Amino acid sequence: MTQYDYLIVGAGLFGSVFAHEAAKAGKRLKVIEKREHIAGNIYTEEVEGIQVHKYGAHIFHTSDPKIWDYVQQFAEFNHYVNSPIANYKGEIYNLPFNMNTFNKLWGVVTPEQAQAKIEEQKQVLKGKKPENLEEQAISLVGTDIYEKLIKGYTQKQWGQACDQLPAFIIRRLPVRLTYDNNYFNDKYQGIPIGGYTAMVEKMLDHELIDVETGVDFFANKEHYLADFPRIVYTGMIDEYFDYCLGELEYRSLRFESEVLDTDNYQGNAVVNYTDAETPYTRVIEHKHFDFGRQAKTIITKEYSKQWEPGDEPYYPVNNDRNNELYKQYAEMAAQTNQVIFGGRLGHYRYYDMHQVIAAALQCVRKELDNHSSGI
Ligand SMILES: Cc1cc2nc3c(=O)[nH]c(=O)nc-3n(C[C@H](O)[C@H](O)[C@H](O)COP(=O)(O)OP(=O)(O)OC[C@H]3O[C@@H](n4cnc5c(N)ncnc54)[C@H](O)[C@@H]3O)c2cc1C
Repeated sequence: MTQYDYLIVGAGLFGSVFAHEAAKAGKRLKVIEKREHIAGNIYTEEVEGIQVHKYGAHIFHTSDPKIWDYVQQFAEFNHYVNSPIANYKGEIYNLPFNMNTFNKLWGVVTPEQAQAKIEEQKQVLKGKKPENLEEQAISLVGTDIYEKLIKGYTQKQWGQACDQLPAFIIRRLPVRLTYDNNYFNDKYQGIPIGGYTAMVEKMLDHELIDVETGVDFFANKEHYLADFPRIVYTGMIDEYFDYCLGELEYRSLRFESEVLDTDNYQGNAVVNYTDAETPYTRVIEHKHFDFGRQAKTIITKEYSKQWEPGDEPYYPVNNDRNNELYKQYAEMAAQTNQVIFGGRLGHYRYYDMHQVIAAALQCVRKELDNHSSGI
């Protein structure tokens, strides 16, 4: 047995919040991370003085004042407000769908006119119950928004035509009848000044926490299980059980980054390419997250792809088959008393950052309550 109370597998947000809180309560922890760096998917790296979001653009947002206060102890946040734009064959539209979008699409000026236009376009379905994603989207926002802003983008995201995709993928499509380009409805929003990696570094900076990167749990699973009284595992739940019931499915992403010799490439942090022909889904210009004034710029093109072993599993595919399979793995996990499963991969669920922090805080509190005397 080691001198540690916990082994944390994964130095992402879930593992790091858990480690921070447990160390504050006097527990000794070892954190292992298979990548060569901490912070998981929120990892940022400074290049040319610009914080580059290496695993996709990350904007922190929450309406929960407790979560907002919580993150302030690790970073100061800037006042970035996410206002992505869509580029459809060179036509530019504001997102999320709002009065600016409708004015550009149809020339309408009042919310009433916009609403009437959407209602009129929904009628093509003649009241038919949507049977696929295409019909679902049209039933929510009409044909023009679907054709120009949803169809191509969604097809690229899922690698399948929208009339072949199930309707449940789009449950609702927020339509905002105000001239408001703020993507999120949340009360608080921003990006940590100095990057997310520095924020996570601060979480893990405690004398009771030892961090080792470049270490894969599965290289030594039996040894860890024998040595550590408690383990928090934030990797893929199906991998933990050696895929014994089958593989869960994920969507993955491929990123292509370039340093460009211009100070402003696209005038916005996030531009979605919503046509089907452009092979990437969006282009991120990282400096605009920080209002950067550097002479150069860095852009990243984001391509969506089918997950294959070895790829980073970015998005769980929560269809019936996978949800059912996950349920069976979760039942096995519940029998594994020594190991706590957490985070987006442990729970096979898409979590935003504020949600993963809330989940980690809830988990560590429960754990410390249950095990405070035993360890
Ligand atoms: C493209 C994209 C964009 C996003 N944008 C936003 C956004 O704008 N706002 C927002 O709030 N959220 C966003 N999110 C969600 C955000 O990334 C997650 O909430 C957060 O990263 C989840 O943290 P986690 O600790 O659960 O997982 P992770 O960050 O994946 O951490 C798990 C860690 O475990 C490690 N690991 C796995 N297996 C092993 C093993 N066998 N041994 C050792 N280590 C292992 C992994 O390498 C990883 O570092 C986005 C997600 C994606 C994919």
